[in-house]
Amino acid sequence: MNTGTSADTRSANLGMLGGGQLGRMFVHAAQSLGHRVTVLDPDPASPAAAAADEHLRAAYDDEPALARLAATCEAVSTEFENVPAAALRALAERGCRVAPSADAVAVCQHRLREKQLFVRAGVPCAPHAAIESEADLDTPALDALLPGILKTATLGYDGKGQVGVDSRAALAAAFTSLRCAPCVLEKRLPLAAELSVIVARARSGAIVHLPLQGNVHRDGILAVTEVPAPGLSRATAEAAIAHARRLAETLGYVGVLCVEFFLLADGRLLANEMAPRPHNSGHYSIDACDLSQFDLQVRTLLDLPLPQPRQHSSAVMLNLLGDLWFDAGTGRAREPDWPAVLALPGAHLHLYGKREARRGRKMGHLTVTAAQAGEARHIAGQAAGLLGLPPLPYVPSPSQPPASPTSPPP
Ligand code: ADP
Ligand code: MG
Repeated sequence: MNTGTSADTRSANLGMLGGGQLGRMFVHAAQSLGHRVTVLDPDPASPAAAAADEHLRAAYDDEPALARLAATCEAVSTEFENVPAAALRALAERGCRVAPSADAVAVCQHRLREKQLFVRAGVPCAPHAAIESEADLDTPALDALLPGILKTATLGYDGKGQVGVDSRAALAAAFTSLRCAPCVLEKRLPLAAELSVIVARARSGAIVHLPLQGNVHRDGILAVTEVPAPGLSRATAEAAIAHARRLAETLGYVGVLCVEFFLLADGRLLANEMAPRPHNSGHYSIDACDLSQFDLQVRTLLDLPLPQPRQHSSAVMLNLLGDLWFDAGTGRAREPDWPAVLALPGAHLHLYGKREARRGRKMGHLTVTAAQAGEARHIAGQAAGLLGLPPLPYVPSPSQPPASPTSPPP
C-alpha cells in the first residue's frame, strides 16, 4: 500500500498531427481528462497549438519533430486528412501507438482506393470510373457517367479539386485544368439529402456510433447539420450505421471515422466519402451528446472504455465561415454580433481563435440545442438571421409552427 504523501498520476502525453480546429477540440477533450497534448503543425498561428501543452512547429514529415513526438508521446492521432500517411507510419515504426493507422488513412486519402473499399465491403456508392491518364478519357463507358463531377483522387476538400462536367469536351478540359492528376469521374446524382455517421472503433473491435447527421452544403462546404436528421426513416438510419460499421471493420480501423452518404429521391443510400478523423458534421456532439466525437477520439487512442454515446438534446449546427466578418452590403470588415447570438437560449458558440477571417475559411460553429427539434430549428433560424446567413433549410412549413422557444416542451 502506498502510504506516502505524493504519487505519480497516470496522465498521458498525446501527440496530434495537424493543428487546425479539429485538433484544438481534441486538445480540449484530452485536457479535460487530465492529459497533455503536443501538436505538430508548421503554422505559428495554429488554433490547436494555441490550446496545446506543446507546439512542434515543423512540417508533418520533419524527421527530428517526428522523433520528438515518438519519444515524448504515448499515442498519436491526426486531425488533418492530408497529413502524409508516411508520417504516421514513421511514428508507428518508432514504437508509438498510432490511431488511425497509416494504412487506413491512406485509403481515406485516395478517392479511388476509398471506392474500392466501398465495393469490397459491399457498401453501395455512386457510379464512377478512374481517370488516371488522357487515354482513360477515350473509354466509351464514360458516356453513362455524364453529366458528372470530376474529382481529384487526392488532396480535395470542401469542394476543392472538383469540376462539374456535362460533355466529353468539358471532361477533357477539366482533366487538363486539374493538371492531369489522377481523378475519379462520378455521375452527378439527384440528391434528396446528405447524411453522415460517425463511428468510433476500439482496438478490441468494440464499435459505437453517434446518431445520424443531416447535412446541407453550400458551394461544396458544409453549412448546416441537424440531428436528428429531419424526415429520416429508421430503416435508412440503421442502414447507414450498418454500412459505416462494416467499413470500419473491413479496414480494421481504430479511432473515429466519419462516413458521408447521399440519399437519393428513390430511397437509395450511397456512400460518398470517408474522413479518418472527427468531422465538421459531428461538432454538434460536443453540446448535444454525453460523449463528443473528440471524447471518442481520446478514448480510442488510449484504449479507454467506449460506452454508446447518448444524444440528450436536439441540435442544429451552423458553420461560421469567414464571410460573416464582412458586411454583405458594403463588403467592409466587421465583427459579427456575438452578444445578440449569445442571448439566444441553447446557443453554444465555438470560435477557433483564427486571427484572420477569409471568405470560405472555417472560423467557428454555432450549435443550438433544445429539448425539441422544432425549437432548435426555430432558434437556429433566428441565429442565422442575426448573423446574416441565408434562411435555414428544413424550416417547418407554416402549418406546423415551431414550438415557442420560451414554452416548456410538451
Ligand atoms: P469534399 O471532399 O470536398 O467534401 P465531396 O465528394 O464530399 O468532396 O463533395 C462535396 C459536395 O459536392 C457533396 O457534399 C455534395 O453536396 C456534392 N457532390 C459530390 N459528389 C456528388 C455527386 N456525385 N452528385 C451530386 N452531388 C455531389
Ligand atoms: Mg465531403
